[in-house]
Amino acid sequence: MTTKWQEVGAGVFQRRYEPCDVTVTAIVGSEGVAVVDTRCSLEEAQEIKRDIARFASVPVRWVVNTHSHLDHTWGNSAFAAPHHVPAAEIWAHTSVPAALTPDDPAVAFFLDTFTDNGPDWRARAEQLRIVRPTRLVEHASVIDLGGRTMELRWTGRAHTAGDLWVVVPDADVVVAGDLIEEAGAPIWGPDCFPFEWPGTLDAATRITDATGFIGPDTVVVPGHGAPVGSAFVREQRELIASVAEQIRALHRAGTPLEQAPAAGTWPIPRTRTTYALERGYAELDRRAALAGLGTEGTR
Ligand SMILES: [Zn+2]
Repeated sequence: MTTKWQEVGAGVFQRRYEPCDVTVTAIVGSEGVAVVDTRCSLEEAQEIKRDIARFASVPVRWVVNTHSHLDHTWGNSAFAAPHHVPAAEIWAHTSVPAALTPDDPAVAFFLDTFTDNGPDWRARAEQLRIVRPTRLVEHASVIDLGGRTMELRWTGRAHTAGDLWVVVPDADVVVAGDLIEEAGAPIWGPDCFPFEWPGTLDAATRITDATGFIGPDTVVVPGHGAPVGSAFVREQRELIASVAEQIRALHRAGTPLEQAPAAGTWPIPRTRTTYALERGYAELDRRAALAGLGTEGTR
């Protein structure tokens, strides 16, 4: 794994950081730098700032959180006063501020999951100062970085309710956050939308949607891992769709939720299916109830 900054398009740099193998992107304009995702803590985000200062002579003026999860947002305070003056604008989807609370179920999930963040991780997490984004995007926004623009696009719910794509048209680079994962299989957490995820990827991909921004030569930077191309996005879309199909089939067959991980044929590790199944079953039960049928009636 490369832990050096790499220029993936003109003036667009990305680096993978431990812990969590988070991929951070810096887009350099003549007026400032935009940083996409801020890692898990103030200290980790300070390291991003020090690194960027080595290759960019303009300050960080914009931060984008691709979604609410703590490995993408908990470093935000490094870009706000008193650590960053003037403070950077922090951008995210409209659903993100409400999800950025310590009692969000995803937080407990991640505190348990990120075991390689060190023995003092929980203690550090408790002292954390969460800085919420204040520049919010519902469907699309364009930001002028000086001499170039960056677009923030939301094409639907997927990994969470509020996953943004960061599009840099002049470099043909798209930052995907956890909509796409290269370091391992995608993560279905307690706030995922397993049935909507494939369509959200289709809406971003030119081959399936004429308004899509991922073309044949686009460099796609995932939330974790190394940059990929459009073919990888299509393959991962198929994998995500097959997980959704498996959930539907198990639910349709009346398989109890507790037995579903063992009963299914999964293209991902079984342990990763817990929340996909929980969220999927809840959604299918809701749909059945709305249709005036109990789940019994669908068997
Ligand atoms: Zn995530």
